[in-house]
Formats: sequence, C-alpha cells, structure tokens
Amino acid sequence: MSESHVIEKVIASPDKDAIGGIASYYIGCGSCAFLDPAFRIVRNMDGCYQASVVGQVNDWQAAARVCPFAGTISEDQIGKELFGAQEGVSHNKYLGYYLDTYVGYAKVDGWRARGSSGGMISWLAAKMLEEGLVDAVVHAKDGPDPEHMYTIQVSHTVEELNSGAKSKYYPVEMSEALKYVRTHDERFLFIGIPCFVKAVRLLCREDSVLQERIKYCIGLVCGHLKSDFFAKAEAWESGVPLDRIARVDFRHKLPDGPASDYAVEVERTDNAAPVIKRTADLSTTNWGLGYFKYNACDYCDDVLAETADVTFGDAWIPKYVSDGAGCNVIVIRNQDVRDLLMRHRDELVLHEATADEVYQSQAGGFRHRRQGLSYRLHVHRERGEWTPTKRVKPSLEGISEQRQEIYAFRTILKNESFVAFRKAVSQNDFSVFNKHMNPIVRRYNRVSMSLKKRLRRGIKKILKKVAPHSLVAGIERFYQQVVKR
Ligand SMILES: Cc1cc2nc3c(=O)[nH]c(=O)nc-3n(C[C@H](O)[C@H](O)[C@H](O)COP(=O)(O)OP(=O)(O)OC[C@H]3O[C@@H](n4cnc5c(N)ncnc54)[C@H](O)[C@@H]3O)c2cc1C
Repeated sequence: MSESHVIEKVIASPDKDAIGGIASYYIGCGSCAFLDPAFRIVRNMDGCYQASVVGQVNDWQAAARVCPFAGTISEDQIGKELFGAQEGVSHNKYLGYYLDTYVGYAKVDGWRARGSSGGMISWLAAKMLEEGLVDAVVHAKDGPDPEHMYTIQVSHTVEELNSGAKSKYYPVEMSEALKYVRTHDERFLFIGIPCFVKAVRLLCREDSVLQERIKYCIGLVCGHLKSDFFAKAEAWESGVPLDRIARVDFRHKLPDGPASDYAVEVERTDNAAPVIKRTADLSTTNWGLGYFKYNACDYCDDVLAETADVTFGDAWIPKYVSDGAGCNVIVIRNQDVRDLLMRHRDELVLHEATADEVYQSQAGGFRHRRQGLSYRLHVHRERGEWTPTKRVKPSLEGISEQRQEIYAFRTILKNESFVAFRKAVSQNDFSVFNKHMNPIVRRYNRVSMSLKKRLRRGIKKILKKVAPHSLVAGIERFYQQVVKR
C-alpha cells in the first residue's frame, strides 16, 4: 500500500484478527465522502459508519488531509492558527488554547431542562441565530426511522433547535449536511464532537466556500462515540424488544438525585408508553467499560474539542454533580463567543473554574486518551503496525504494569461487546449478552479495582435487590460524606 494512500490504512482494519468491521481507524464523520464521491459511507455489521472506495479517487492526498485520523496536522497547530494570536490567550496541554473556563448553565427559556447538562449549547446556538451571527446551525437531530434515530441536519430557527437538544451517543455522518452548506449561501454554526470539528476545520483549509460560510464551531466534550448497538442494547435491556425500538433519549433527566443519575427514555414503534430506565440499573451504560465504542476513539487525544470556538461538557466535578438539573463545564477560545456570553450574562449562571477543574471533570477520559493511548501506540509499534499520527508518543514510560493491564483489558471489553451483542441478536435473547460479558467484566474489575471498592460494590448490588432506592442512595451518601472523609 502506497504512503500517499494513508486514508486506506484508516479505513482498513489494522488487525487481521479484529472483530467484525470495528477495528479500523475510521470514525465515520464523512469528510472524505463530502470531498470525493468515490468514498461511500455505510453502516457496517457492528453498527458503525464505515467508508469504502467505489470508483476512481480524484486526489488521495486531499482525502487524507481532511480526515481527522489520516492527516498529520494536530489540534495544537489548528488551535494556534485560529486562537493563538488573541490577547490574553493561554495554552494548556489538555484544554488547548483558551481564554476563559467556567462551570454554569442557562437559566432562561427551559434550555437547561431540555438539555443534557446545563443546556448551554442550545442556548448559545439560539443566541447566535437571534443576534444574526449565523443563519443556520448544523447539528444532530431526530432522524427518519429506527435505523437512523439521529442524523446531522440544518436548523434555521430557535424552534428547530429546541427539538435537537441533548447528546446523541449514536453514529452520525456529516457529508450530506456539508453538501447543504456548500450549496447555500448562508452563515453556519457547526456543532459536533472533537473529531468532527477537527474534520470541519481541515475541510475549511481545503475548501474556501466552507471556510467562508462556517463561521463558528461549538464542540462537545467527548469520551468516545458509540455504534448503534449502544442505543439498541440500552433499549433492549430496558425491556423493549429490538423490533419495537423507535428512538432512544440517552439523557432523560430524573427529578431527584445527582446529575450523574440519569435515565434513558425509549420511544416505541407500537405506540405503547415510552420506557424510562435509570442508566445505573443497566449493564450496558457503564461508560468506563467502553462497550460499543468506535475503535478510532481509542486513537484520539482530543477530549475537549480543542479546535472549537467554545466547548461544553458535563461538569463531572463533585461540587456541581450534586445539582441534578445539570451543569456545563465550559472552555471559551474565541473572543466573539466570550463577548456574546458576557453580553447575556444575566441569562446564565457562570461560576469561574480553573483549567485544573476542567481537567478534573474529565480526568478518567484524559488518562485513557493520553497515557492509555501511549500504551496502545507502543503495542502497535512493537507489532510493526501502522497507526495514525498523534501528539501522544508510543511509550510505556511511567505506565505501571497494572495500568498496562487495564488498558489491554479495555480493548478486549470493547471488542467482545460487539461479539456478545451480535450473539444475543442471533439468539434473540438479551441475557446472552451479559452471559458473554460478565466473566470478562469480573476479570477486568479484579485488575482495575481495589478489594475495598469491589466489596463496596458487591454490598451495594445486594442492597439494591432487597432495599428501596432511597435507602441505598442514603447509605451511599453517608459513605461518601462520613466514612470516606
Ligand atoms: C458521543 C458523545 C460523547 C460525550 N462524552 C462526554 C464526556 O466524556 N464527558 C462530558 O463531559 N461530556 C461528554 N459529552 C457531552 C455531553 O454529553 C453534553 O453534550 C454536553 O454537556 C452539552 O450539554 P448541553 O446541555 O449544553 O447541550 P444541549 O443543550 O443538550 O445541546 C446539545 C447539542 O449538541 C448537538 N449534538 C448532540 N450530540 C451530537 C452529535 N453526536 N453530533 C453532533 N451534534 C450533537 C445537539 O444537536 C444539540 O444541538 C459527550 C457527547 C457526545 C455526543
């Protein structure tokens, strides 16, 4: 394979023993398909978007330059070009370039209640429309059918934004929406996860029309993207048969309890009432296990969408998590956005936060995507395999044997989750999934958790079966506030 066809290496499976089609470095954003119709994007057997080459590619190198996993331009380079010259800008190896950091939420018009966390993304998009900074917003919204629960679309009004709120842990691709941008002389705001925003920035370097029209990008903090198995597995485990699932709301807020205690709401095709289930009661929703994760996500080192004008995530910081209504962690990089937020500060609650607090809110994600990535790159290098060019270098330096084992186990958990789900589907029995995964999870827990933590978990599990939820929550609070201190 020629070096100039590096995008083929991104699309192809790097590991011949890999599970299904999942072990490629392709994230399914669709930047290559937007550039060149020879790249076709379809869902693979693992519910992930996957490109294949059909026909004659015009310019292989251009396709590689716009791919977030094939190009060699880093988030630092893009960030420096976009934000580095502003007065008062700082740089941090986790946050990228930034002007300000906050924790907060939108306190007007129900944005917070409708949003995943503080509702600030939708609030800001609405403000940009109302103030005439943009004419339209490119973001993920309800799709046409259960096999396409969410797709990337264009909203022109605040009402249209309303129906697009909340996080979609679901495969989406942007080539069609970008074709709309290419053919409509309007000013756009783009909303997306870090790799999608990076792809848009790379496309803007190639295409002066996109560059002219895409005025701003809002980034979502990202732990990883999920295959559509995630939505299906959550819904199925919640008791909705596979052929009755219409759509899954991944972030249904519950009235009491901390922000981290949310539910999924599954709409059904048979007009029966939607099913609401706490994610804490589902096995498939433990993000730490990384079930149904795109393989590419394990080769990304950008958690905070460093190329976006502003990034929002969940404020997973103890003093804010207790506020069940939800709070955003906020990283502002563009002076225009800072000015806009300050002009409307009366519509927001903004607490100053340090860069370290922002880091802490995503500390687990950073460990996995920086130290864990070093480990994974090292393993590939030892095997003589190609990997995308990253800011993180292949190394085992400073990575304890226990951490190495944890990272190795996470790859197994990811791969096996696909095998287990396909097996469960073929036997039409969700319990097959857990029968396959439970022994692997137990082995992983033995490696990753102290005996004390495992005992606490075991006791909590037993209590959950015999005691009401409020009592278990009370005991957990007592443990956190009194015993642990
Ligand atoms: C795949 C994924 C992984 C994430 N991982 C983390 C994490 O590890 N840590 C963390 O703190 N936060 C994570 N988030 C972000 C978090 O879930 C919230 O989106 C964020 O806090 C914003 O909430 P909000 O209430 O301000 O947004 P809302 O007001 O609810 O608005 C969300 C906006 O984002 C758009 N949107 C949602 N999903 C997508 C998508 N997939 N592609 C394009 N646009 C989309 C919606 O259309 C809407 O415009 C993740 C989000 C996604 C989609």
